[in-house]
Amino acid sequence: MTLKTRTAVVTGSTSGIGLAIARALAAEGANVVINGFGKIEDIERERLAIESEFSVEALYSPADMTRPAEIAAMIAEAETTFGSVDILVNNAGIQFVSPVEDFPIEKWDQIIAINLSSAFHAMRAAVPGMKTRGWGRIISTASAHSKVASPFKSAYVAAKHGIDGLTKTIALEVAQHGVTVNCISPGYVWTPLVENQIPETMTARGLTREQVINDVLLQAQPTKQFVTPEEVGAFVVFLCSDAAKQITGANLSIDGGWTAG
Ligand code: NAD
Repeated sequence: MTLKTRTAVVTGSTSGIGLAIARALAAEGANVVINGFGKIEDIERERLAIESEFSVEALYSPADMTRPAEIAAMIAEAETTFGSVDILVNNAGIQFVSPVEDFPIEKWDQIIAINLSSAFHAMRAAVPGMKTRGWGRIISTASAHSKVASPFKSAYVAAKHGIDGLTKTIALEVAQHGVTVNCISPGYVWTPLVENQIPETMTARGLTREQVINDVLLQAQPTKQFVTPEEVGAFVVFLCSDAAKQITGANLSIDGGWTAG
């Protein structure tokens, strides 16, 4: 229970990787703020499961990551409720797959807002408290697509490369305040985000479902296995440990070797 006195805010944690990260931090004793969309009864079930399984407190924030004022209010509510935000995980993200000439302008704006700008707004709100207390961990879920591109994902790849630059910048700003800032770059993790892009990729590339899974997704990953959400959760727990206090400004891959090639 290495995080017993800590509070973590994990954006986009009603599903997939974010939920696994929130559960992994709670398993180490952190109180958590979960955030994201979904059926309210499903979210409440997950929130109660975290509280009962790990004997921590879990708060749900419905803040929309396209709205800067709601992001700032989420951080403020967490600080009021728990006394601090010690760990911020910028994880909310969406995907859209289309050739650039057909890429809807509103999808571009939405992806930049959720996958990139929300991390800026959340860091902007959380950093002052971390600096005052002299301890903090900021981890953003980037992607292998923060290091390399794939066709038809212009907004996503641009946003994730932006997370890499934002991470380095804030890491330098807070380096002497006990606050580390890193991003993690998963390869393909089997979550609704990946499952939902299969039909779009079938259309964009003229492939079957099996061809998309084996020839597009796992093609990129030398291990030929999906990363699991739990493996990403364990990685975040390590970055929150004292052993990781000299790891900052880094973009750390967990991608089955994808970006080694
Ligand atoms: P997911 O679809 O399972 O979860 C996305 C989460 O973000 C959900 O909780 C959803 O409600 C939330 N969300 C979406 N729009 C939001 C908004 N406007 N405001 C607040 N919350 C919002 O997806 P996932 O695969 O778990 O992805 C999580 C993160 O991991 C994303 O940033 C994604 O880009 C990144 N990632 C995923 C993979 C993968 O293969 N699944 C690989 C690399 C990086």
